[in-house]
Amino acid sequence: MNIVDTPEQARFRAEVRAWIATHVPPHLKGLRQGIIRGPGLGWEALRPLREALVAQGWLFPGFPAEYGGGGLDPIQQIVFQEEYIRAGIPPAAGASGSATNISQILLKWGTPEQKARLLAPTLRAELRWCQGYSEPGSGSDLASLQTRAERVEGGYRISGQKIWTSLAQHADWIFLLARTDPQARRKQDGISFFVFDVRSPGVTITPIYTIDGFHHFNQTFYDNVFVPESGLVGGLNQGWTVAKALLVHERLNVTSANPLILRRALDDAKTIARGQAQAGGVVWDDPALCRRTAALEMDIDCMRYTRYRSLTRIARGEVPGNETMVFKFFGAELFQRILELHQQAAGTAGLAWDTGLFGQDIREVAVHNANSRGRSIEGGTSEVQRNVIAKRVLGLPD
Ligand SMILES: Cc1cc2nc3c(=O)[nH]c(=O)nc-3n(C[C@H](O)[C@H](O)[C@H](O)COP(=O)(O)OP(=O)(O)OC[C@H]3O[C@@H](n4cnc5c(N)ncnc54)[C@H](O)[C@@H]3O)c2cc1C
Repeated sequence: MNIVDTPEQARFRAEVRAWIATHVPPHLKGLRQGIIRGPGLGWEALRPLREALVAQGWLFPGFPAEYGGGGLDPIQQIVFQEEYIRAGIPPAAGASGSATNISQILLKWGTPEQKARLLAPTLRAELRWCQGYSEPGSGSDLASLQTRAERVEGGYRISGQKIWTSLAQHADWIFLLARTDPQARRKQDGISFFVFDVRSPGVTITPIYTIDGFHHFNQTFYDNVFVPESGLVGGLNQGWTVAKALLVHERLNVTSANPLILRRALDDAKTIARGQAQAGGVVWDDPALCRRTAALEMDIDCMRYTRYRSLTRIARGEVPGNETMVFKFFGAELFQRILELHQQAAGTAGLAWDTGLFGQDIREVAVHNANSRGRSIEGGTSEVQRNVIAKRVLGLPD
């Protein structure tokens, strides 16, 4: 891929910049990466921005225009992201990860009826989604899941328990894995993939609070929940194939797998360090901190150009190579190192925890760093990712 804009890409970049200048209010620009509790950043407060993006097709810019996406090609999507992230605008779709991932699945496996009923409203952010994969005894070994779905007249009855169901309290719909054939020879062969209204009778959602003080996670319980036939995606007992495909999207879509976001987060750390007084100067005067920053900068560039290599393949209509396997775990660990740098850059203020003594930027540094611990667990832990790379890419024995 040519990393200097072609005239066509430069035109598109100018179009995006002009749109941002016109449609994004000043208080939503220039925000430090990771601020989530700031004033005006809640779901409702971001509605006008979301609606402007939907009208332009840029809330989910890579999806086909016929379903409300932007129909942008992969290079245009990068240009759009570069400008959006450079401008320091918060993600307007909120918990858009699950929405993006399920939309990819519906696009490929959804029936025309499922696409009409679910895909377009999701891309307009009218439907919010959560993910029902993990169970108390089934995380890394997901295929051992115990939640079951029994066939009944007109559909299925689902019973069981899920855990770590992110943002279920705000979701409208859930995609969930359940066992439909307990007798299957391989445990993977007896699983189906369902979508249904998470407010259906028989669903109970209870919160789990995390170290960052957030209510992000939930336990979700399913007591004989009726799901109509139209809630099955990809065919009976074909759920494992669908589930794995969704995980591939999830591992590419998570925040920390995006080198543009990593770059922005590192730039933010530099800004903090340059503004924090320390020993007659500023934190940025510390040569050890500058060396740490330079090392991170090189790692981000490596990841960025590796990602561009994949993108070049996609843009040529080829299948990306094994390099895609490293983005999730390398990015997660890089992200955590960057957020540790944020805390170091903020000096003693970086240890503050919601004291109200510091500005919003500094106050959230400690919270955001604590939150980032989950990056190397979500969507498959770093250890498991390393196992997969060892086996599938390097051909090492089990
Ligand atoms: C921020 C975040 C958001 C999440 N959101 C959701 C969600 O919305 N929906 C959902 O269903 N789940 C969600 N999860 C759960 C996530 O998918 C699981 O936590 C993850 O798959 C790990 O499973 P586990 O927690 O059961 O850990 P376990 O599988 O019990 O693993 C425990 C430890 O053992 C290690 N380990 C396990 N197996 C191996 C192995 N074979 N080799 C080497 N080491 C191994 C792991 O790396 C880990 O360190 C989320 C998690 C996080 C952190």
